[in-house]
Amino acid sequence: MNIIQPRSGAAFTLQKNQYLLVEDLKGMQVSDMVLFSQNDIGEKLSSGKTLDFEETINLTTGNHLWSNRSNKLMYIVHDDVSSHDMLLAPCSKETFEIMYDSHETTHSCLDNLNNNLKTFGIERDQIPGAFNIFMNVQVDAEGKIAVLPPKSKANDTIVFKALTDLIVGLTACSAKDSNGGSFKPIGYKILESWA
Ligand SMILES: [Zn+2]
Repeated sequence: MNIIQPRSGAAFTLQKNQYLLVEDLKGMQVSDMVLFSQNDIGEKLSSGKTLDFEETINLTTGNHLWSNRSNKLMYIVHDDVSSHDMLLAPCSKETFEIMYDSHETTHSCLDNLNNNLKTFGIERDQIPGAFNIFMNVQVDAEGKIAVLPPKSKANDTIVFKALTDLIVGLTACSAKDSNGGSFKPIGYKILESWA
């Protein structure tokens, strides 16, 4: 298992037909995931296209993650939690200032994605909205959004199948309210097959 330390991130390649397993090692920890096509980094994960084509905000086993060019990037093959978010953007320095009234110098998810994706020639402004693994976002009947502690428990996993050659950015989220008030690590593993 590869470990992403609390409030940090990683970036790596994932080939077509490989599987990515993401594990909440301690419980109640969010992991933001962004995707780019290896062939052309102009093609990337799109929240809008995914919600449009999947016709749900409750993405889980059986759903696809789509690109800005309307291609399927990933398929969710396993999900212990069935509570993830694709509405909200990765946390940034400004998130801490605007939402928390805090000038923490801690690296945000956007910083951690940016620092790790640089290796692949991807700039900060090219980073799209993420698939926020284990993030518990509730929308009420009036459309009001609430960020609640994750429903994930220790060792809960989600598994994705790559449908094209991908560059993956992944974090252990740095926003206090998204993670039940504390910061934990995230585990991930690349698998050649999934039972
Ligand atoms: Zn975050």
